[in-house]
Amino acid sequence: MSLFANLPEAATDAAFALIEAYKADTFPLKVDLSPGFYRDEDARPWILPSVEKAKQDLLNDSTADHEHAPILGHEALIHSAQRLVFDATCEDTATIASIQTIAGTGANHLGALFLAKARCPRTVWISDPSWINHQEIWQLVDSGIERQTYPYFDKQSFIIDFEGTISTLNLKAREGDIVILHGCAHNPTGLDLTKDQWKAVADVCEEKKLVPFFDVAYQGFATGDLAEDAWSVRHFFHNTSLEMLVAQSFSKNFGLYGERVGVLHVVCRTEIARSKATNMLSRLSRAEITTAPINGAKIVAKVLGDTNLKQQWQNDLLHMSHRMKSMRKRLVDALLKRQTPGAWEHILTDIGMFSMTGLQPDQIQTLKERYHIYLLPSGRISITGLTEHNVEYVAEAFHKVTV
Ligand code: PMP
Repeated sequence: MSLFANLPEAATDAAFALIEAYKADTFPLKVDLSPGFYRDEDARPWILPSVEKAKQDLLNDSTADHEHAPILGHEALIHSAQRLVFDATCEDTATIASIQTIAGTGANHLGALFLAKARCPRTVWISDPSWINHQEIWQLVDSGIERQTYPYFDKQSFIIDFEGTISTLNLKAREGDIVILHGCAHNPTGLDLTKDQWKAVADVCEEKKLVPFFDVAYQGFATGDLAEDAWSVRHFFHNTSLEMLVAQSFSKNFGLYGERVGVLHVVCRTEIARSKATNMLSRLSRAEITTAPINGAKIVAKVLGDTNLKQQWQNDLLHMSHRMKSMRKRLVDALLKRQTPGAWEHILTDIGMFSMTGLQPDQIQTLKERYHIYLLPSGRISITGLTEHNVEYVAEAFHKVTV
């Protein structure tokens, strides 16, 4: 009898299960609206031209080797990452402890571990709904920290439940609690707070002494504008004295999904605290991964550190965000033309790659079985699966399952 035969059954990940089902489907018109990966005009993976150029330059570098990165990660990546997300000066960075991680997921995970060790908050507040892995990560860290949700999404009207967010944090959160905030392009709703709303959340965090933990997985990818997408983080960083964490991913904005490049920042506000935090992060990371992978880190650092490549990268970001905006419009036009039942116009103004459709589980099942269109059971669609070739087909299928 195996030691592991009695392990509790773990549910398979819905998103990755759909990806496999889609791959196995041989129907020529199949459409994948489930994953959070950018797809080009022909629904294929896209290598950003800026990334391709950086890769070639690195290949031609005869001094390159395969040695370990330092324990905190590739230095040039860390510095560029700090500047990119915080718009930080050298002086600012003296109080930020940063470490390279296994992409955004690793940054979220290391941040959770760090907080469990460093502060022992009683509760972590996660938006309802949120990226599925937020709950999973905090559950598996198994720190005794209670997980609670704050309302974020008004399902009837497809708008943010801002009143619910603020009043929950105001009335229920306690000093030292962690609040997970999506810096931009909220996953799965595609709904972001306005600047005034961000200011109000910052005020509540200050008044109640909460610890914001920003998850920034879409900077530049969301709107094509790096400053706009980091506005929330920069506001908290420059205009409050809050200590906070930022999990920064380079998966979407560089199209480096499989390279797993990320950075975790802990904003400490004093140099002594920064040194202690750096020490703790190094220890935790050493026990998990020893050092982070170098290939993707070098690519990102190369692009961010070279004026021409950075300019090209910003053009690449605009290309992706424009394509998503135009597919949003194409889908909504096609649904409105058919007078498809449902609320669709919010899809025009949602930000990033996701939108909620309001489609119900039985309709989603029919979309998969009859039309070979794949989306998550929550009704979230990823806009990047849409192309000029399939958008009418998708709209027609949505129409058929809703009338
Ligand atoms: N946070 C959010 C909100 C995300 O949507 C994602 C990706 N789906 C991640 C983190 C993790 O990204 P990565 O692939 O960099 O681990």
